[in-house]
Amino acid sequence: MKDEQTDAGTGGAVLPDRRLKEREEGLRLLVESVSDYAIFMLDPAGFIMSWNAGAERMKGWRAHEIIGQHFSRFYSAEDVAAGKPVMELRIATAEGRYEEEGWRFRKDGTQFFAHVSITAVRDAAGTLRGFGKVTRDITERMRTDMALRESEERFRLLVESVGDYAIYMLDPEGYVASWNTGAERLKGWRADEAIGQHVSLFHTPEGRAARKPQIELQIAREQGVFREEAERLRKDGSIFMADVTLTALFDEQRRLRGFAKVTRDMTERKRAEDAVRELNRDLELRVAARTAELSERNAELNAFAYSIAHDLRAPLRGIIGFADALAEDFADILPAEATGYLGRITAAAGRMNDLIEDLLAYSRLGQGEISPVRVDLEPLLRDILENMRTRLDERNAEVEIIRPLATPRAHYATLQQVVVNLIENAVKFVPPDRRPHVRIHTETHGGAWVRLWVEDNGIGIAPEHQTRIFNIFERLHGQGSYEGTGVGLAVVRRASERLGGKAGVESEPGSGSRFWVDLPAASERSE
Ligand code: ADP
Repeated sequence: MKDEQTDAGTGGAVLPDRRLKEREEGLRLLVESVSDYAIFMLDPAGFIMSWNAGAERMKGWRAHEIIGQHFSRFYSAEDVAAGKPVMELRIATAEGRYEEEGWRFRKDGTQFFAHVSITAVRDAAGTLRGFGKVTRDITERMRTDMALRESEERFRLLVESVGDYAIYMLDPEGYVASWNTGAERLKGWRADEAIGQHVSLFHTPEGRAARKPQIELQIAREQGVFREEAERLRKDGSIFMADVTLTALFDEQRRLRGFAKVTRDMTERKRAEDAVRELNRDLELRVAARTAELSERNAELNAFAYSIAHDLRAPLRGIIGFADALAEDFADILPAEATGYLGRITAAAGRMNDLIEDLLAYSRLGQGEISPVRVDLEPLLRDILENMRTRLDERNAEVEIIRPLATPRAHYATLQQVVVNLIENAVKFVPPDRRPHVRIHTETHGGAWVRLWVEDNGIGIAPEHQTRIFNIFERLHGQGSYEGTGVGLAVVRRASERLGGKAGVESEPGSGSRFWVDLPAASERSE
């Protein structure tokens, strides 16, 4: 190193020939071995004087094939005809250097995109000795650049053409940097009017006074994104409901480069939502009015049935009373046939009385308020079984109660009616040659419901009938086989519903029936 400095200081003339040669040789070897760049010399007229490994690799000619040829070989016929190679040398001569990027040919006729620089080489006296030419194959880089440019262009066109969303960019300070068709359509400002304006232009005066634009930018900066549904201003001063997303854009060094803002007009959607809400409210009101009307009608019908049933009692009592009187007072003179008819009158009137009593009971269920309280099932069942003793004994029925019994909330007399009807049926719908066996037990469901079961070993019910038997006057049997009015289960259902619960049955013909009633469970505390 020291030697060279000394050499440079004393001028090239002092450099010994041997060392100069060595240095030139070193440089030549270095240039020749470079394989990523084509490096070669032209003489002042443009003929090739040297050729390195990179030139061979890039262009395909071996050194001995190309040295001595004119460098215009690397140009297209049109370029040569247009005098391009000559012009390049002229520029390099005049300015010391010529540089360009363009397509060049290889020996095999294929093309590559080259970065070319031509440097004029002069000796110490300033005489032009030739040109140094360095060529780099930048086809790959050019392709990547082009692809990137194309994709950016495509993306820009896409964003610009979106008409339903305002999509635009803000610089890091919040000034508009780009503006698409949607933004113009939504807000009314044209691109040339909007670009360069501060984003607060789109805020309402109140929003501006509350420093909302600044706060939004700050939130987006700190959290990456800011979203809201709020009022925004149009150019004409009108206000619309906007759905806004503001996204902060950072580069790889986490430096804030700006913001992307997407705004959507929510006016239409809001209007549609309001309309739906309005319709729903209207519908609810109409349903409520209809329900009130129906329950009024229902109450009227109920009262009507009640008064008819009630008014039928008096004439019926007359029929029964006089039929009895006739049978008793004229027993001696009435022929046997007449007594038989009288018996039929009494029986039919008795049945009618049963019907009226059941109907009255059913109608009464629809009237008045029932306020449920805690009902202990033990005393309730005891009362019922005592009252039914005779009927149970007639059939030699066995009633089994499985304890412990859960405690529902109900109304004592109403629940009693339900259970009586179920036990009566459980004993009644058993073939005459079988001893009725009734099982009563309870279950609790989720702590909130008590299910009371009344199960029998009777004839059972086909699945297709299991719903309709709860309708009033619905019976599956004629009076000949099993007596009844068809009101019992209607009472069970209506009463359960009035108590806030429901009733149902599980059964198969021939294997008994299991009726159930769900009632609200009483809370632990006594009521
Ligand atoms: P009724 O007992 O007066 O006929 P219900 O309304 O109590 O009227 O019962 C309606 C019908 O449901 C009965 O006629 C009968 O066909 C059927 N049914 C009710 N309970 C039972 C039962 N435990 N087993 C079989 N069938 C029943």
